Amino acid sequence: MNSVIIGSGFGGIAAALRLKAKGHDVTLIEKHPDLGGRARVFKKNGFTYDAGPTVITAPHLINELFELFKKNPKDYIELAPLKIWYQFIFEDKTKFNYSGDETEMKRQIKNINEEDSIGYEKLVNFTKKIFDKGFKELSDVPFDKPFVMMQQLPALLKLKSYKSVYSLVSSYIKNEKLRRMFSMHPLLVGGNPFTTTSIYGLILYLEKKWGIHYSMGGTGNIIKGFEKLMKEVGIKVIKGHEVIKLISNKKKITGVQLNNQTFIESDNVICNADPPAVYEKMLNDNSNNSFLFKWKKNRMEYSMGLFVYYFGTKKTYDDVEHHTIKFGNKYKEHLDDIFENKKLNNDISYYLHRPSATDKSMAPPGQDCFYVLVPVPNNQSKIDWSIEGEKMKNLVIDKMENDLMPELRKNIVEDFYFTPDYFEKDLNTKYGSGFSIQPKFSQSAYFRFHNKSEIYDGLYFVGAGTHPGAGVPGVLSSAKVLDKIL
Ligand SMILES: Cc1cc2nc3c(=O)[nH]c(=O)nc-3n(C[C@H](O)[C@H](O)[C@H](O)COP(=O)(O)OP(=O)(O)OC[C@H]3O[C@@H](n4cnc5c(N)ncnc54)[C@H](O)[C@@H]3O)c2cc1C
Repeated sequence: MNSVIIGSGFGGIAAALRLKAKGHDVTLIEKHPDLGGRARVFKKNGFTYDAGPTVITAPHLINELFELFKKNPKDYIELAPLKIWYQFIFEDKTKFNYSGDETEMKRQIKNINEEDSIGYEKLVNFTKKIFDKGFKELSDVPFDKPFVMMQQLPALLKLKSYKSVYSLVSSYIKNEKLRRMFSMHPLLVGGNPFTTTSIYGLILYLEKKWGIHYSMGGTGNIIKGFEKLMKEVGIKVIKGHEVIKLISNKKKITGVQLNNQTFIESDNVICNADPPAVYEKMLNDNSNNSFLFKWKKNRMEYSMGLFVYYFGTKKTYDDVEHHTIKFGNKYKEHLDDIFENKKLNNDISYYLHRPSATDKSMAPPGQDCFYVLVPVPNNQSKIDWSIEGEKMKNLVIDKMENDLMPELRKNIVEDFYFTPDYFEKDLNTKYGSGFSIQPKFSQSAYFRFHNKSEIYDGLYFVGAGTHPGAGVPGVLSSAKVLDKIL
């Protein structure tokens, strides 16, 4: 049996390894000259910039891919647990060190609002129930038949999946600062906390269960470790070539065509590429799509876009934690502008990554390496990023100077940024969304793009746009679904 994987994100690599372990003859094709997709790495002048994922959770999902081949993960990668997971900074400049230390968590909560400490305990207990169902039980279940979804609906309703994460958190927590903090997790997978199904509250518990880790040398070192493993176990990797067409015979996919006119025949094609882009651009003849599928595809709502500014400084900012999250004042209004009104708002919230806080190898001696991520509207907004990119860069530098890094601008020695245009053009993602389709209830599990195509035989999906969804644990789990159906 031979299988072709299109795309080398975490999901694509995990699929390649799992199928190889089952005895398939596997070829992985990546458009770029380097692997990793959103987890690519850019090295410049002694700085190592991880392009995307930085918060590593559920490390066993990474380790088990090495263990499939009886390899010791420690021979390839080094994952280090972090003590402080996130430092939150509120508009009044107060800070909260979010961690797995429950005593310290409760002390800080009580400082803000005494009575929310009990609510916090109850919230954690409830998210454990969601986690047990949503992650432990359902994250690697193939939701390709309606009855699988029907069977789960009563349990999901009992877990209040009709509520949003913000509304679930608000039913336990009274203080607005704490509400924002404990409901921010959907933003990590491309959703609006005010509309994302409370099932994603499971991330709060998932972090507590296994901790938050950092990959020494950067997340890119995990991709490097996987690349070495793929070579050792005989997976053929083609880099720097884009698949431009899927070849089909009626409703059976029979192979792929690359941009250099090469055809590769295959029993199975597994797309790690964004599903809407695959259906719309690589399967030119949409006549096979049923009315129901066209309706489903056309009504999909896409995750936010991302503005990511990478920069190195000539000095170190020792007071800045590894992961910092700063909320804007008009938090909800900002999110409405991103997700609903599709327009920019100056009152931004942002996430700042400083890997050199943990790992000095990420920057030259005495210097610091960063990226700052600002959620922005996806390209349905029609924002002209060739104009707005520079303005956004200056806005976020101003905010960081004011909030936590004095005189930042004059200490920056090099920089570059990505806008939703990068995600659309370079990573082939519809509307340049950062995380494919949104994690809403109406777009989850059976309602998401199926792991086994609902239209074509021999066509499968792994990665952010399919079940269970975005985030490294999500896309690694999508490859476990594949394992069950192929
Ligand atoms: C800035 C940023 C920060 C993030 N931070 C975190 C975090 O801290 N923790 C976390 O868990 N998650 C995080 N995420 C989310 C996480 O990175 C993604 O959900 C996950 O990495 C996506 O993996 P994927 O398998 O869907 O593939 P992608 O990474 O989307 O890769 C798809 C690959 O397919 C290739 N491709 C597409 N079309 C073709 C074609 N036609 N031919 C050949 N190749 C093709 C692309 O070039 C790309 O390499 C972050 C995401 C971003 C963008």
